[in-house]
Amino acid sequence: MTDTLKSIPILVPGAINPVTLDRLRAVFDVTYVEEGFGAVSDALASRVRGIAAIIPMSAADIDRFPKLEIIAHFGVGYDSVDARHAASRGIMVTNTPEVLNEDVADIAVALLLNAIRQLPLAEQWLRDGKWASKGPFPLTPLTLRERRVGIYGLGRVGRAVARRLEAFGLDIAYHNRSAVDGVPYQYYPTLIGLAEAVDTLISVTPSTPETAKSVDAKVLAALGPKGVFVNIGRGATVDQDALIEALRDGTIAAAGLDVFANEPHVPQSLLDLPNATIVPHVGSATEYTRAAMATLCAENVIAWFTEGWPKTPVPETLGVERPRTN
Ligand code: NAP
Repeated sequence: MTDTLKSIPILVPGAINPVTLDRLRAVFDVTYVEEGFGAVSDALASRVRGIAAIIPMSAADIDRFPKLEIIAHFGVGYDSVDARHAASRGIMVTNTPEVLNEDVADIAVALLLNAIRQLPLAEQWLRDGKWASKGPFPLTPLTLRERRVGIYGLGRVGRAVARRLEAFGLDIAYHNRSAVDGVPYQYYPTLIGLAEAVDTLISVTPSTPETAKSVDAKVLAALGPKGVFVNIGRGATVDQDALIEALRDGTIAAAGLDVFANEPHVPQSLLDLPNATIVPHVGSATEYTRAAMATLCAENVIAWFTEGWPKTPVPETLGVERPRTN
């Protein structure tokens, strides 16, 4: 079996966690092309049966690989992979859910606390010597006390965020397309309905055509002047210009952002806002969690070629046929 597996050509285009590469190299005939798809020869593309990658894969990228059976995406959000097109070609797509929930939820809470208690500004005050020269850091106008939190996207990560916020004694509500069974949080069937009922909105939804710019000026205004918005999901789900305007003119009080509209580019107008606490998409960025994601990414490819079905297929490709035996 190992000999047979060793003859299966797997492509790893673009930089990836070394754990994925090592795990795949132990089993398959792996070609690593650091520069990405542009540097993949047609001869190689004609042979490849599996791809493990973090880089985007458009329909045109996918169509370069006539024998491709599986795309193992590194990350739980797979909006950068055209999974519907892959499904239409009978190609399996996998992602890396669950293993990152806790680290990502930690960052959502950290951003919430940063935004409300102004910890980055307080630290800068200390580092600039102002504690000694000017006195204590000013009292913050905002507190976590008596807040009502709305979670937009009560999925795997959203529930991990909610569990943490329960421990803070906060009232929690949520909006999804459908209500979740067995959770003690109030469900709102519309995002605007949720925003009107809360003053703190945490977005954990995937980027899809439906969620694009769904957090817009109206939703932000509904949070009110003490409103706080945290985004740990995807930048594309927010109207970023409307968010900048709402932060600038006091429509809402503060924001904590891990994700942005056009990463890695963050507009100067957002960088200039003292009431936005911003970090460069670090939600899952610990060595511990990235190793777990890297292992799952590789194991999906291994399971496909050894067991005929991957560990974590994305919903769009659940109808894909099992592979022929190797
Ligand atoms: P998940 O379990 O699939 O949860 C997604 C949630 O969003 C579900 O509750 C879903 O509920 C809801 N949702 C989807 N489409 C919606 C819509 N049109 N309107 C309202 N609600 C909608 O995914 P997850 O594992 O929690 O991850 C969520 C997202 O977080 C990922 O897709 C990724 O983009 C992002 N993420 C970011 C980081 C980071 O580093 N910042 C790390 C991990 C994940 P319904 O299906 O009932 O609508």
